[in-house]
Amino acid sequence: MKVTRNTVAVITGGASGLGAATAVALASRGANVYILDNDSVRGLKIAKKVKGHFFQLDVSVAEEVREIMDLIHEASTSLHILVNCAGIGPAGKTLSRGEPHDPKVFSKVININLLGSFFCATYAAERMLKNNCSNAEEERGVIINTASIAAYEGQIGQVAYSASKGGIVGMTLPMARDLSAHGIRVCTIAPGLFQTPLLEGLPENVKISLGKQVPFPPRLGKPDEYANLACHIVENEMLNGEVIRLDGAMRMSAK
Ligand code: NAD
Repeated sequence: MKVTRNTVAVITGGASGLGAATAVALASRGANVYILDNDSVRGLKIAKKVKGHFFQLDVSVAEEVREIMDLIHEASTSLHILVNCAGIGPAGKTLSRGEPHDPKVFSKVININLLGSFFCATYAAERMLKNNCSNAEEERGVIINTASIAAYEGQIGQVAYSASKGGIVGMTLPMARDLSAHGIRVCTIAPGLFQTPLLEGLPENVKISLGKQVPFPPRLGKPDEYANLACHIVENEMLNGEVIRLDGAMRMSAK
């Protein structure tokens, strides 16, 4: 799909990190960008920067997601791109000093990362269906999800996070197949370690040491590198149903 001034892009988690970089990248290509996030302070700031719009929501609440996708479609009369970046990653072991994992924390991670991505995808797809298409081969929309390499080699303490990201990997192909008849493509990016607010709280020496675990380039990923891949997925029509690792060949150890 070629991004033009008529392209409407929705980015969840767009107030920060990978989502914010994607909002900037898509806006620089001309897209009309909608930032969806539960952080209104940072969300409004990024929306202003990209001359876009902001809606506050919790992606894990299905009704809120549907209502906002409807509002966006009403305001813009179309919806072409969804990039799902909203996510959380609290640590917790299956057993910690003999104590079981807090079920509320486990459910929250699944609700936001997995169900939230699915709710945004299904309700965005409902709206994409209404986009005008001049022929049967023309595409209506593109959905990009964000998993993690923790979907494949989750570390100690990542049981809930890895389960949520594994779910995103698992739903990528069936979602692409489900939506193929409607001209909507679906891909997932599985990032390695990226320099975002998620990691920025770490001391500099820890970030350097984490970066050195990446075979090449031996550093943390830059949000722009994620954003560039997201834009490429949008533009490359043959990419569909695929999960792409973006990790400098990193394979995480147990801890
Ligand atoms: P980030 O914390 O900078 O951004 C995440 C955004 O999601 C924040 O703006 C936050 O407010 C928003 N959010 C959280 N819960 C929400 C909810 N319930 N409803 C709406 N918005 C919500 O993190 P990031 O590093 O940019 O991560 C983006 C995505 O990439 C996440 O899904 C994360 O798991 C994934 N990821 C990040 C890395 C990394 O190294 N940074 C690696 C692998 C995967």
